Amino acid sequence: MHIKDAVFLEDLCPKFRLRQWRKSIHKFTGKCCIYCGKPSESIDHVIPRSQGGLSTTENCVPACLSCNGNKSDENALYWYRRQKFYDPRRAMAVRAWLDGDLRLAIRLLQWANPNFKVNNKNYEKDESEYKAA
Ligand SMILES: [Zn+2]
Repeated sequence: MHIKDAVFLEDLCPKFRLRQWRKSIHKFTGKCCIYCGKPSESIDHVIPRSQGGLSTTENCVPACLSCNGNKSDENALYWYRRQKFYDPRRAMAVRAWLDGDLRLAIRLLQWANPNFKVNNKNYEKDESEYKAA
């Protein structure tokens, strides 16, 4: 009875799943904006929804409010090139993220910011599951 209730609860509350998903995305970068390295306060669509971008992990990156607002409805890769804080390693990280290669993306971000500390628990778990499959 309780288990059934729990399943129902999740179906009735997609917001709960959404919150978990958002949390895990921020964890990947240690809660840092993928573009500038400031604390990430939002999730940004690399390819904006207005251009057909989906709300998938590959297309959603942690971003600070400033970058997210400034970028607005533009494709992130084009927008990022024009920024003062442009860093080719971060640009590569965004591209890798978009390709679904989070492992490479995280490595590039670590390279761009040596102080980058990340709680990789989620990420390592994903990897071991991948190996097991
Ligand atoms: Zn930023």
